[in-house]
Parts: sequence; structure tokens; C-alpha cells
Amino acid sequence: MMEDILMGYVEWNCPKCGKKNRESCNAWVYGSPIRNCKGCNSEYFDNRWREIALEGVEPATKSPKLYLIATLGFLVFTIVCAMWLVTDIRTRGSYPIKLLGCVFAGVLGTVGCFVIFLRIILGYEDKQNQKYYEESLQRLKNKNYVEKLISYGYHVPEKFR
Ligand SMILES: [Zn+2]
Repeated sequence: MMEDILMGYVEWNCPKCGKKNRESCNAWVYGSPIRNCKGCNSEYFDNRWREIALEGVEPATKSPKLYLIATLGFLVFTIVCAMWLVTDIRTRGSYPIKLLGCVFAGVLGTVGCFVIFLRIILGYEDKQNQKYYEESLQRLKNKNYVEKLISYGYHVPEKFR
């Protein structure tokens, strides 16, 4: 369940065949920036993906404090909006629909940040990072792959060349 909340998607339209590709990724889009179209299999460079062994781990995933502060921030925002909502309903019998949206967004933000906070302090985030790191390192052992990355303009440090 924790995985699902943090799943993201990357979408792109293939320049060759026009197919819309939709790929799942983690919240920080770790993976090879060289993708293949699911329709025509042509290769494509997408710099939204990050080769984690080269770029390093997202610093935010090492900072539980950041997410705790964000959780509290969202929580306060949610409470303020909810109180405003209740007051409006009591005094006017109606409420602006935008306010309901704010409460909803606030709850999502609170839960989302708290889940990441938990993942960091429980060590899940490190474990995941380690897994992505190993996969990345594995890809980089392939010299052809490294050369391809360089030819696409991706910065590859000397020690991987
Ligand atoms: Zn294609």
C-alpha cells in the first residue's frame, strides 16, 4: 500500500509512431533515461529518468525532518480549511466548493508526507534506494550503454567511462 501511494507515471508520445507511452516509476523517477517505445520499439532519450548511480540519491529522501515539517504544515492547513468549511455550513448553510477541494488536497498532502516520513525513519527509503542503485550500477557496467548515454548528452563521470 505504501508503494501505491508513491507510484508515479511518466508519459511521452513516441516521435516515430506517435504512440502514447505510459510507464510507472517511483516518486523520484529512478531508472534508465534511455527508453523504448512500446509500440514500435524505437529508442528514445528522456532526461526525466535518473540514473541513480550517476546522479546520486535524491537528498530529500535522507531528510525525515523535512517531511515531518511538511506533514505538520499540511495538517495545519487542513484543520484551518476544515474549520472554515464547518463555520460556513453553520452560518450560511452552504460552502464554496473550492474550500472542500482545499480540505481534500490538505488531507492528501498530510498523508503523503507522513508516509514518506515513516518510510525514511523505518529504513524503507534506504532499501528502495539501494535496490535502484544496484540496478543502475548493473546497467552502467555495459560499456555500450555508457557510450549511448554520453552520445545522448548525459553527463557520465570519468570513473564510469
Ligand atoms: Zn513508437
